Amino acid sequence: MPRCLKCGKSRDLIKLERHRIWVCRECYPWFFEKQVERAIEEKNMFTRDERVAVAVSGGKDSLALLHVLARKGYNPKPFFIDLGIEPYTRHARKIVEDVTGSLGLELEVYDLKKERGAGIPEVARATRIPPCSICGAVKRQAMNIMAKRLECNVLATGHNLDDEVAFVFSNVIDWNLEQLARQKPVLEPGQGMVKKVKPLYRVTDREVELYVDVLGLNVVKEECPLSRKAKSVDYKRVWDEIESTRRNAKWSFYSGFLKRLQPVLEERFQEKVRLVECEKCGEPTTEGRKICLVCGFFERVKNSTTQ
Ligand code: SF4
Ligand code: ZN
Repeated sequence: MPRCLKCGKSRDLIKLERHRIWVCRECYPWFFEKQVERAIEEKNMFTRDERVAVAVSGGKDSLALLHVLARKGYNPKPFFIDLGIEPYTRHARKIVEDVTGSLGLELEVYDLKKERGAGIPEVARATRIPPCSICGAVKRQAMNIMAKRLECNVLATGHNLDDEVAFVFSNVIDWNLEQLARQKPVLEPGQGMVKKVKPLYRVTDREVELYVDVLGLNVVKEECPLSRKAKSVDYKRVWDEIESTRRNAKWSFYSGFLKRLQPVLEERFQEKVRLVECEKCGEPTTEGRKICLVCGFFERVKNSTTQ
């Protein structure tokens, strides 16, 4: 009869096929948190003394990450990016405020309308660029800004193993070697960018879902109204199928990539893209541009309203 790996109980068991183990619901958080701690330690992401900025969207991944860090004695500094996508953003913000409050953590907010004068829907209307393309660039920049404001040298995001596998897979389909060279759980700081880490890179979507479920966390379930079906959703489905016939295929694919291919590509593309300061906001942008992509979007919004 199967028994829990930790306490030996044979009730309320969860089967973790890819690890070939069973754990009971009570011991599951212990198992999950151990995986995350292992990722943090093995990759020297940060120590318990360091302030770690955590981008919390209200989704399961970032809230799971915040709980692990708070429960395991790390020093997380959560922040929320208010994108002005109503009523979705208001709802997500309320959940994040409640959760951080219950953990006794102060929450900082980057409010796009206050900082830049418009939310994602207005920028998308004015520029006619797909909202997710704008949003991706805005969030990347806001995360870097917030980490620095919160006096953190490290920024942690909730990307999990399924996200990483889908990203690598998509870039393999296009043989986008430059992107693959930069794909790893820790991106070192430099040229105005803070260190970026992904402490959930060893755990799957399902394992995160289980953690959230066992702890009874309230997370944002609805989809962003601006979301278009991303290709990554299809890739994740393909990988779920592969995993159902080949145990631990996701981890084998991603860890193999990190060991065998990524270092070679990093060496090959070590000529780093040089970054310069944006003349408007001071954030890093690629050499040759006067203003960054995000400032460019908001310039277009301004021009569209003055025309
Ligand atoms: Fe932003 Fe697109 Fe995600 Fe909505 S679905 S939050 S617009 S990236
Ligand atoms: Zn700028």
